[in-house]
Amino acid sequence: MLSSATKLTAVIGNPIGHSLSPLLHNDIYVREDVDAVMLAFQNPSIAELVSAIRALPIHLTAITLPHKESIIPLLDEVDEKALSIGSVNTIINTDGKLKGFNTDVVGIAVALKDAPLKGKSVLIFGAGGAARAVAYHMKECGAKIHSYDRTFKKAQILCEKFGGMALELDAMNGTQFDVIVNASPVGLHPNTDATPVPKEMIKKGGIVFDLVYNPLETRLMREATERGAQAISGLTMLVEQALEQERLWLGREIGNAPYYVLLERELNKQRNK
Ligand code: NAP
Repeated sequence: MLSSATKLTAVIGNPIGHSLSPLLHNDIYVREDVDAVMLAFQNPSIAELVSAIRALPIHLTAITLPHKESIIPLLDEVDEKALSIGSVNTIINTDGKLKGFNTDVVGIAVALKDAPLKGKSVLIFGAGGAARAVAYHMKECGAKIHSYDRTFKKAQILCEKFGGMALELDAMNGTQFDVIVNASPVGLHPNTDATPVPKEMIKKGGIVFDLVYNPLETRLMREATERGAQAISGLTMLVEQALEQERLWLGREIGNAPYYVLLERELNKQRNK
């Protein structure tokens, strides 16, 4: 039941209509008996959104595209890991002081928790914000990073920051990587026939991690399974980064609950509309 004591949390972005965050976080609040409600706010101006966070106030904010980088100079403090990644997806408002965090990297670590990465050759396809969080984790784990982006300069910048080799398309031909991570929107609904790499590049016994979670099984994941590789969906990352946001805000553990099932059901519902 909402009351005048109910705390406001939010997801902010532009656009925001596709966000699953309100569904997921509000389900956490019900299950965990937290007197809070999450709403979605769309605004192209990050300055206006930050003013709203301070004024209302919004206690926990989840940030999505395109504001994950531009929000950094507007915060009072930024966690060291988020600063290294150059991307903030979470703000905790403590008595008016806004501190930024990156929980995408926690979602990535959980999704890859059983993957041996030390010394393994990894291809990160796409060199945007999510790719930087992947590269941060790969560097921490001692993997050999290879970066590809259709904007070559972005792949070079990522490698300057995290180490590794920026590749042109031709240089990848015939190469098989131990781990392939799709950190681009290639394959995202409705372009489900698209796939970032030719299936011959997928190594038998290797690992393919697709950050795309809509559809739940992308063409890349399907082809990974066909080739005898392990396919990991972006849904794990999505759920785990959200749970970490709540842990940061509430300062306690969150119990196990069927959050994956909730989001799977919603994604299937959206697709059948
Ligand atoms: P972003 O900052 O826009 O970066 C996307 C990158 O992919 C850009 O560098 C873009 O290059 C590149 N790219 C796009 N199409 C490409 C293509 N055909 N070939 C090569 N590179 C291409 O977005 P992001 O936040 O990093 O997100 C990337 C993907 O991860 C999205 O699909 C997003 O939904 C997903 N994601 C999932 C989670 C999760 O929890 N599972 C969390 C965050 C993001 P240009 O600059 O040249 O366009």
